Amino acid sequence: MSQPSPAREIGVDRDGRRRYELLDDTGFDEVPKKYRKFYRRWRGPGDSLAPNEAFCPVCKIVVRSSRELREGDKIYCMACMTRLRIGLSDDGILEARAVY
Ligand SMILES: [Zn+2]
Repeated sequence: MSQPSPAREIGVDRDGRRRYELLDDTGFDEVPKKYRKFYRRWRGPGDSLAPNEAFCPVCKIVVRSSRELREGDKIYCMACMTRLRIGLSDDGILEARAVY
């Protein structure tokens, strides 16, 4: 089995955010092939999110971005067609929230 979340850090943009090159297919087959690298399955306890990843609270998958995510960012989960906004939880953890 290949690495489940292939991404390579490729530098920092003007805002100081880390940028990533998302590599290939993550095996996530619920979206068209060209978009698969932007999603992956959550692997359960022990899994963790990279700085460019957010957990979709609606369909429980991981949405991946080509750059580091910050509070206020908006992302789109194609698997459940939900717009998500990155917020800060009470614990100070970045979490995605559905925007309706
Ligand atoms: Zn979703």
